[in-house]
Amino acid sequence: MNCDELVAQLVDFLGGELVIEHRETIELHIRGCPKCEAYVATYTHTVRVARVLPKCGALPPAFEARLRKALEPELGGS
Ligand SMILES: [Zn+2]
Repeated sequence: MNCDELVAQLVDFLGGELVIEHRETIELHIRGCPKCEAYVATYTHTVRVARVLPKCGALPPAFEARLRKALEPELGGS
């Protein structure tokens, strides 16, 4: 597996839909590839946040401001 293949399978991996064999292949690659390890960590965090947000309804403005600030680097904040 190379980095491109890892990215392509990442969504399924994080959704828990890959068979164990593929999960191990991905985890093995991550262990030997700091770039993908960082990518997976960022992606996992973003997915968690994205899943939580719609259930919250309106956030307290102060909390939303803090959250946006925290997420800015990951959202590419231009
Ligand atoms: Zn890689």
